[in-house]
Amino acid sequence: MATFIVLMGAPGAGKGTQAKLLQEKLDLPQVATGDLFRANLKNQTELGKLANSYMEKGALVPDEVTVAMLKDRLAQPDCAKGAILDGFPRNIVQADALDHLLTETFNSTIAIVPHIHVDVEVLVDRLQKRAEIEGRADDNEATIRHRMQVYEEATAPLLAYYAARGLLVEIDGDRPIEEVQADLLQRIAQATS
Ligand code: AMP
Repeated sequence: MATFIVLMGAPGAGKGTQAKLLQEKLDLPQVATGDLFRANLKNQTELGKLANSYMEKGALVPDEVTVAMLKDRLAQPDCAKGAILDGFPRNIVQADALDHLLTETFNSTIAIVPHIHVDVEVLVDRLQKRAEIEGRADDNEATIRHRMQVYEEATAPLLAYYAARGLLVEIDGDRPIEEVQADLLQRIAQATS
């Protein structure tokens, strides 16, 4: 059966970094909706331009657009064995859509939902540093604050949703990258064995 891992965590918690490391170790593709939007924007597609009007404000791109893009990505052959989802789902509507997609297309369900937890002050500090290094357009202070608010309001409720289904695993993200990675690998191995 295909293995789908949903990586949760606030902006700046290290989801992307950890997902990239996991994809090599687990031989599963990282599917990051934010990266897909940014790639579209770089290529100046209509989807990219539309997404950017939301991204630059730190708002969520509309669900129907995001879900359709995710569906297309998961239909690629490299996702037949599963994927590491990074940045999706971001609200309950998307979580429902994901469940349906996995059941109907893959005859599968989510294997585990690791939540990389980091205190909010540490997050804001990390995001401001990332802004200086990577120059991401949505890493300015006002947008960061709005993304945090969107996370609290729309995405954080998913933690209780997945906890109720016994899928949530808490990971302390305020540690060196290698330690977080080792913890993730161990918990994923337990959940998928
Ligand atoms: P990220 O790289 O995951 O931090 O995402 C950057 C931005 O892309 C977010 O602030 C949103 O504007 C947009 N985005 C990424 N994933 C989603 C999603 N699942 N639903 C809606 N918008 C998203």
